[in-house]
Amino acid sequence: MNIILLGPPGAGKGTQAQRLVDAHGMRQLSTGDMLRAAVKAGTPVGLQAKAVMERGELVSDEIVSALIGEELDSMGPDMGAIFDGYPRTAAQAEALDDILAARGRKLDHVIELEVDEDALVERICGRFTCANCGKGYHDKFAQPRIPGVCDKCGSTEFKRRPDDNEDTVRTRMAEYRAKTAPILPIYEARGIVARVNGMADIDDVTTAIERIITSG
Ligand code: ADP
Ligand code: ADP
Ligand code: ZN
Repeated sequence: MNIILLGPPGAGKGTQAQRLVDAHGMRQLSTGDMLRAAVKAGTPVGLQAKAVMERGELVSDEIVSALIGEELDSMGPDMGAIFDGYPRTAAQAEALDDILAARGRKLDHVIELEVDEDALVERICGRFTCANCGKGYHDKFAQPRIPGVCDKCGSTEFKRRPDDNEDTVRTRMAEYRAKTAPILPIYEARGIVARVNGMADIDDVTTAIERIITSG
């Protein structure tokens, strides 16, 4: 199974991808996470991407598509893939078709998380993650069960992204509207798009996604 989670920043892609990983042993392929790891490690890709990400603009199509290809090559052929934050442009959508075909994979579902833009700033500005295992949280909507302790690994260290501020979020939303939303018709023409109400509670969004991927 190969699925794309599509939606603007803060729509809930990462949250839902983590749940699919836990429930089905699929792999989350988040270009945002891969790029942040490259920035942290100071690799050539990271050095190129850092300033672009801080401005909330898009990193080059070549860089992100290469990262996706490498990640797929590290997976067994039967392991399902959840694309989170990729593709984000028409060129990336085309590249993904080639990348998948070359590995004998095909796209099963493109799941669009529909959200109210007004809610996104609050979601992004309250977002934090466990510094040890990466589990995602929110100040108001998804707090750890025990304050200050990660539910999954027990760590007491958390982190926030430097680009999760109101200014950058506006740029990221504009990038989504201009470059990412226009790729939906490509997938609609193939009859593989399903829409989910991303404003529902996190558990209800998960239920809706499960229904889509188990319906064949
Ligand atoms: P994305 O990966 O699409 O940018 P995230 O999954 O990181 O989005 O979610 C952004 C923030 O909103 C996180 O702090 C997350 O805990 C919270 N969140 C995710 N889904 C929901 C939801 N359905 N309702 C309320 N908050 C949510
Ligand atoms: P979010 O889902 O909250 O928008 P991501 O973690 O997916 O954030 O992406 C963070 C940043 O990384 C983006 O603003 C962009 O600069 C860069 N990035 C991530 N994925 C891509 C991609 N597929 N194409 C271009 N840039 C990307
Ligand atoms: Zn943790």
